Amino acid sequence: MTQHAFQTEVTQLLQLMIHSLYSEREIFLRELISNASDACDKLRFLSLTEPQLSAGDSDYRIEIAVDKGAKTLVIRDNGVGLTEAEAIEHLGTIAKSGTKAFLGQLGEDQKKNAQLIGQFGVGFYAAFMVADKVVVESRSARVGSDQAVRWESAGDGSFATEKIERAARGTQVTLHLKDDADEFLDGWKVRGLVKKWSDYVCYPIRMAKEDGKELEQVNAGQPLWTKAKDAIKDEEYTAFYRSACKQWDEPATRIHASVEGRLSYTTLLFVPSEKPFDLFERERRGVSLYVKRVFIMDDCKHLLPEWLRFVKGVVDSDDLPLNVSREILQQQATVEQLRKQITKRVIDHLLKLAQSTDEADKAAWAKIDAAFGGVIREGVVTDHDNKDRVARLARWRSTWTEAEAGRATTGLEDYIRRCPESQKEIVFVTAPNLAAAKANPAIEGFVKAGREVLFFCDPVDEWVAQHLTEFDGRKLVDAAKGAGDLLDAEAKKALEAKAKELEPFLGFAKETLGDVGEVRLSGRLADSPACLVADEHGISAQMEQLMRRMGQSVPEQKRILELNPSHPLVQRISALHADSGRRGEVADALHLLKDQATLAAGGTVSDGAATAKRLQGLLAKALG
Ligand code: ADP
Repeated sequence: MTQHAFQTEVTQLLQLMIHSLYSEREIFLRELISNASDACDKLRFLSLTEPQLSAGDSDYRIEIAVDKGAKTLVIRDNGVGLTEAEAIEHLGTIAKSGTKAFLGQLGEDQKKNAQLIGQFGVGFYAAFMVADKVVVESRSARVGSDQAVRWESAGDGSFATEKIERAARGTQVTLHLKDDADEFLDGWKVRGLVKKWSDYVCYPIRMAKEDGKELEQVNAGQPLWTKAKDAIKDEEYTAFYRSACKQWDEPATRIHASVEGRLSYTTLLFVPSEKPFDLFERERRGVSLYVKRVFIMDDCKHLLPEWLRFVKGVVDSDDLPLNVSREILQQQATVEQLRKQITKRVIDHLLKLAQSTDEADKAAWAKIDAAFGGVIREGVVTDHDNKDRVARLARWRSTWTEAEAGRATTGLEDYIRRCPESQKEIVFVTAPNLAAAKANPAIEGFVKAGREVLFFCDPVDEWVAQHLTEFDGRKLVDAAKGAGDLLDAEAKKALEAKAKELEPFLGFAKETLGDVGEVRLSGRLADSPACLVADEHGISAQMEQLMRRMGQSVPEQKRILELNPSHPLVQRISALHADSGRRGEVADALHLLKDQATLAAGGTVSDGAATAKRLQGLLAKALG
C-alpha cells in the first residue's frame, strides 16, 4: 500500500464537513449515488465513439447493499471507473477552484451548508460524515482486471492506494459506518433516502428485496421530462429540480415543453428563486444537454445566451447526433436553431409572468426580478437578437415606485402607460446608489414637471443607458445630460435674458472653477442651487468612474455646472460679484456650490482638502 497525504484543503474540508453538517449528514447518500450516476453517464457517452469500452455490459446500473453484521453500506456502479492515478488525483484533491468559495459560504444553517456540497463538487468527501473508514475499489473501463485500484482512508490527513484484481468494471464504495450512524444499516431507511433524493437518477438503483437475495429497483428511473405534464405533481418537479440541478430552493417558475416540428425537443427548465453564489461567472450555464434521453453534457453553453445563465434544467433534443461533443456542438446549425427557439421560449415565459395580473405569477416574477434583475438588464446590452423584448423585462425603481409602490420596481411599458400626453421621452438618472439617484438635483425639474424618472443605480444600468437609446419609439433621456429640455418658449426666453444679464458673473465662474466645461443657468432645477451635468454626447460621471476602475482610458470629461437663477444663494453670489472687492468670497462660494452639487449626485470631490478648508472658513464666519 502506498500512503498519500490529502491536499490541505481536503483535510480542512473534511473537518468542517464532519462538524458543521451533522444534522444533514444523510445527504452523503445522494452525493455518492450522484457520483455513480455521473460515472455511468461518462461511460455511456464515451462508448458512443469507443464502443469497446462498455463491451459486454452496457446495462448501466447502481446497486446499494447494507450489511448489518459487518456494519457496512456499499454503493456500486458499472460506470467508467477510476485508474489508480485518477483515484489519487480525484479522491485526494479538490480540483475545482470552488473549495475556498465553498468554505467561505458555510454558515450556521446546516441545511443550506448541506445543499452547497453538491454544487461545489466536493460530494465524495461527505462519506466521512457517516463512516470512519471508506474503501473504494475501482476498475477503469480502459484497463484490464489486474490494473484495478483500492483506495482507503479513515478521513484523517491521509489515504492509501494499491493495485488489486477486480473482475468487474466500475466502482464500489464501501462505508464502514460510525457507531452513531447505525440508522444507515436499515434497508428501509436507505430506500426512503433513495426515493427522497435520487428518484430521478436515470439509471436503475437496485437493492436487495427482503429475502436478501433478489434485487429490485428502488427509484422511479424514468426521466421526469419524458412524462406528460399533467401527470407530474409540483412536488415531483421540485424534487427533480433539487436533485438534478443541485439546487436547494423552490424554483420560482418552470418551463416544461415538448416541441415537435422541424426541430423536436423537450425542455424542462427552471428559474431559481434565490441568487446563486456564482451568478457572475459568465461561463456558467445551468442547462444539461441530452440527446434522445442520453446524457451528453452539463453546463451546455450553446443553448442559451449568457444573460440567461441563471436558468437551470434539461434540454433533450431528438435531432442532434448522439456522438456530439463540445467542439462539434458549436458548428451545428441545429444547435443555433435550438438556441434561438429555447431562448425565445424562455423570454416569452418570463414576459408572460412579468405582465401577468395573476397573484402567483406576480409573486414569482418579483422573486425573479429581485434575484436576477441585474443579469436580465445585461441582456438588454448583450442579446442583440432579443434586445427589444429583453428591454420589456428590465425593471428599475423610479420616482413613481418610491412614491407609490414601496419597494417594487417598474418597467418601460408601465412607465409609458403612466406618461402624460405631452411627454414623449423616457427619463432616467444614473447614480452609484438609490439614495444618490433620488438626491440628484438634476432630476428636480423633471419631477416638478410631472415626469417620472427611472433610477439607474447598478453598474449594469450604465451600459443599458448607452445601448438602449429608444424604446417603443420614445427616446431615453438622461436627466443629467444635455440641455434638459423642460421649458416652454416663454420660460426659455426669460432664461436667455437672465443669462445675458449675468454674463460677466458666469464668465468669472467658469474661469474660477477651471475644470468645468461651462457654467450656465439651468432650466432643470427646482429647489437646489446647482447641479453638474454632462453634455449631450459626453459620458455620465458614473460611466467615467466605472471605466477608470476597469483600467480603461477615458478622455477627460468636463462637466457643465448649472446654476439655478431663482435660488437665493445663486442670486446672492451673483450680486456679490458686482463688488470687485469681494471676488475672493465669490470664488470660494462657487467652489463650494460645485462641490456640494458633486456630492449630492453621489460623486466625490477632486480636492477634498481644499473643500474642507473652504467649509471651515465658512463655518468660522457663520458662527462668528
Ligand atoms: P464531483 O463529483 O462533483 O466532481 P466528488 O468529490 O463527489 O466531486 O468526486 C470527485 C471525483 O471523483 C469525481 O469528479 C470523479 O472523477 C471521481 N469519482 C467519484 N466517484 C466516482 C465513481 N463512482 N466512479 C468514477 N469516478 C468517481
